[in-house]
Amino acid sequence: MKLANFVNNPRAYVNKAKDFLLNKRRVVLHAGDNVQCDICNWKGTQFFEGKCPKCRSLQRTRLMPFALEYFNLIQNPKRVLHIAPNLNENTYMAKNLQKGSTYDRLNIRPVKHINIVQDITHTNLLSENYDLVVAWHVLEHIVQDVRAIEEVYRLLKTGGHFLVSVPIYPLKSPHTFEDSEIPSKDFEKVHGHHDHCRSCGLDYYLRFEKVGFKTQELKVQNLPPSDIEKFGLFEDHVVWCFQKS
Ligand SMILES: [Zn+2]
Repeated sequence: MKLANFVNNPRAYVNKAKDFLLNKRRVVLHAGDNVQCDICNWKGTQFFEGKCPKCRSLQRTRLMPFALEYFNLIQNPKRVLHIAPNLNENTYMAKNLQKGSTYDRLNIRPVKHINIVQDITHTNLLSENYDLVVAWHVLEHIVQDVRAIEEVYRLLKTGGHFLVSVPIYPLKSPHTFEDSEIPSKDFEKVHGHHDHCRSCGLDYYLRFEKVGFKTQELKVQNLPPSDIEKFGLFEDHVVWCFQKS
């Protein structure tokens, strides 16, 4: 935290420092074999409110490496485009992609770990240039999501994959809901988050199929309970692996 932030809000600074020290202790005191963070490889007795005490990864973030393995997507060198990765996702990919892979990270605003600052609804990137595109809890923030899906379709090679997860809101909701008349000040109330412009349902994959993708689905609730517990996953999360045919 910067000095100015400390001066403005010393309590937040102190809480953050306490949280840091608490998690440092947890990493050591709760070492064990019950759970394993697939982002940082910490092994312990439990996660804490869903988070890894070492890297602070969330349930949804730990699902990304699991899904990459599940759909057999990182076994070979690939050209990969990751849309708006968070720091943990970026760290995992940079470490675990096969030697010889290309890892591009795109974001609409400049961020430290990003190498392409562009809008995914309208890029100037080459067509048919990637084997894999990942968008992890990103599309629910993008108003023109279908345009983004079309753009990813253009960027992928034939046979390439688009790995996607979005929050399902409300949980288990069968239908996607959005209404362009809803002002952004009401997003929190309607969509459960101040920056979500729609509530994605379990039918959200249909938007990809309309663009031309074929769908494979992973529902965490259908995984063996031992996997859900080991990696600290959330039962209501869903992943889609789309393929350009
Ligand atoms: Zn971790």
